[in-house]
Amino acid sequence: KVKMKIALLFLMGLSHLVLAQKNDEAKIEALIKKMTLEEKVGQMAQITLDVVGKGDDVYSSYDPVELDMDALKKALIDYKIGSILNTANNKALTNEHWYEIISGIQKVAMKQTRLKIPVLYGVDEIHGATYTVGATMFPQQIAQGASRNRELVRKGAEITAYETRAGSIPWTFSPVLDLGLDPRFSRMWESFGEDPYLCTQLGVEMINGYEGDNNTVGDPEHIASCLKHFLGYHATISGKDRTPAYIPEDALREYHLPAFKAAIEAGAHTIMINSGIINGVPVHANYDLLTKLLKEELGFKGLVVTDWADIENLQRRDRIAETNKDAVMLAINAGIDMSMIPYQYEPFCNDLVALVKEGKVSMERIDDAVRRVLRVKFALNLFEKPTTHYKDYPKFGSDEFGKAAYDMAAESITLLKNDDNVLPLDKSAKVLVAGPNANSMRTLNGAWTYSWQGDRVPEFASEYNTILEALQNKMGEKNVTFVPGVSYKDGGKYYEDELDQMEEAVKSAADADVIILCLGESTYTEKPGDLNDLYISENQTELAKKLAETGKPIVLVLNEGRPRIISRFEQQMNAIVQSYLPGNHGGDALVDILLGEVNPSGKLPYTYPRYPNATISYIHKPSEEQKKAEGVYNYEADYNPQFKFGHGLSYTTFEYSNLKTDKATYKKGEDIKVSVTVKNTGKVEGKEVVHLFSSDLVASSVTPDVKRLRRFEKINLKPGESKTVDFTLSPEKDLSYFGRDGKKLLEAGAFELMVNDDKVEIDLSE
Ligand code: BGC
Repeated sequence: KVKMKIALLFLMGLSHLVLAQKNDEAKIEALIKKMTLEEKVGQMAQITLDVVGKGDDVYSSYDPVELDMDALKKALIDYKIGSILNTANNKALTNEHWYEIISGIQKVAMKQTRLKIPVLYGVDEIHGATYTVGATMFPQQIAQGASRNRELVRKGAEITAYETRAGSIPWTFSPVLDLGLDPRFSRMWESFGEDPYLCTQLGVEMINGYEGDNNTVGDPEHIASCLKHFLGYHATISGKDRTPAYIPEDALREYHLPAFKAAIEAGAHTIMINSGIINGVPVHANYDLLTKLLKEELGFKGLVVTDWADIENLQRRDRIAETNKDAVMLAINAGIDMSMIPYQYEPFCNDLVALVKEGKVSMERIDDAVRRVLRVKFALNLFEKPTTHYKDYPKFGSDEFGKAAYDMAAESITLLKNDDNVLPLDKSAKVLVAGPNANSMRTLNGAWTYSWQGDRVPEFASEYNTILEALQNKMGEKNVTFVPGVSYKDGGKYYEDELDQMEEAVKSAADADVIILCLGESTYTEKPGDLNDLYISENQTELAKKLAETGKPIVLVLNEGRPRIISRFEQQMNAIVQSYLPGNHGGDALVDILLGEVNPSGKLPYTYPRYPNATISYIHKPSEEQKKAEGVYNYEADYNPQFKFGHGLSYTTFEYSNLKTDKATYKKGEDIKVSVTVKNTGKVEGKEVVHLFSSDLVASSVTPDVKRLRRFEKINLKPGESKTVDFTLSPEKDLSYFGRDGKKLLEAGAFELMVNDDKVEIDLSE
């Protein structure tokens, strides 16, 4: 009975939603009929707050940004601009201040323009409400990928949505669904990792958290998400930001597309386009990708927004347009609905109006774009409720939310090595803490935190604990000595560091029982984070080697956005902990793991390379078997990384047994049931991630991948406890692949299913 009632309520909710959507569509059509060409074009334009907001460039915890009313009126009234993004002067604002800014903007848009259409405001709230003072900062996406915890990812996004709305902002440019395949890429850490299935699963959770179960983004606790960056953004040849990629059709569909496809099916409202070039064509001018694939084949009904200045870039950078006007024509005809301009908006608006008048862009195309913009504005309920007020968000920045961020950090931090059980540490031990990441809130959070590059750490951030402070809190100040040895250069390039009391650090080791060496990177994103050498810096390498010579046990903590190579000293480290970019509560979570108060359960979301020339993913082509077989050419691309994808230790031990399928042979269309038993054979409670991989032994079109992740489940086991984990695979979804012509193939034959070190073979019949 109860179940029926729930089902009925659910159906009622759903039909209400469908009705509301129908209603919106009617309103949208009526509005479009009333709009002049200039009003339509204005809806397709997005400017940055810097154009209409003024603030000084001095950064403190709270600097006022004032609306420049003349500039605002010119943009909103004269040019009918429909969307604004970002903060002004790259600053975090308080909720009160956000409210002032956004309500000021909405007042002009809704009282002083002819059609009273609200402005769509968007901000990069990528790991919490990143531009709001006092908001909860979660671990960055790469860490969330390591947690393998769907529930926590979703909860983090729900909290982010709530706190974003507290600042009156209804739209975030998140999640990143690009594959973090290349550690050279400066935005790897913005992804969920290298695996398509992992990115798909967690991406959908994040969207559901932001948008709500039925994408009810108009309610005051949800926001519209923005999938980015469509498509293949991270797959550049050079490993540098916004440089060309060459991705064949089969690879595009097999690896890069699934997360976007699933996110669109999950109802995501908006999508942002890859700023780069694929197969020679800038994506912003690619009709095949934007219209044929995205809008027609995938049926995306939402808003397609450019990345930063990317229409302008078609002319200035990519040189496929002679004039700005040609660039506008190319992009809008390819399928762009909104141009993130973001400064000089007049040329875009004037050029687009002229193009329509000259018949070079059709009114149907304009109407399609405007329909998509308005759809998001109606779905967000902005016409009825253009702002939300911080007073209605009492849980903003609460301990409850902080606990969720802590939990995510605690479940993501990954124990990579623990020789002789150096960890957990004895609480009364004397420790030497060294390294440039030991006492930095900036490096715990990474970029897109209170500013673009994460380099402006406001005073209020001092209420959270760095790794050093968390250690002092738990172990007592007198037992914790800190000598950096190496520090990041002030105002230098993002990855530049310098020696800082190196000899003293080495000397201090004599008094310590154990050294906690915190290495990694400073913060960066996009171009500023481009890198020429993947090895961890020379200074940090030297510090590690010198400390190792002291003979004291070393726990290496890696606080980095991408796996910087450590093979020059890895063997001398006794324990290694990957913290990623764990956020404001990451210092506490890390120390609780070091002390054994939390049992680590994170698993690498990427392959940790051993050498700069061996940065291949676990989804490489030559198989282990092939390599071993006698007389078979050994591929250069040996998968011999420092640590494999999925690696992560625990303070307990798990034993896997009884991997089996319900049958040995399956017909197409028939479910494959797989089960495996996992037992906690150690002394403490722990969480384990059970990964199920598959491998196609022979394929007819392209060499099959060595293996592919098909399912994962995180379980908790008490000492001595066992659980049987069941998975269901579908041959069509899980054993097929895209062939050379970009068509999906499901071929009969033998497949292997793998969990941990066990394998079972199954046959698929015709
Ligand atoms: C980045 C996007 C971001 C946008 C708006 C761009 O430079 O590539 O990821 O959403 O700026 O800030």
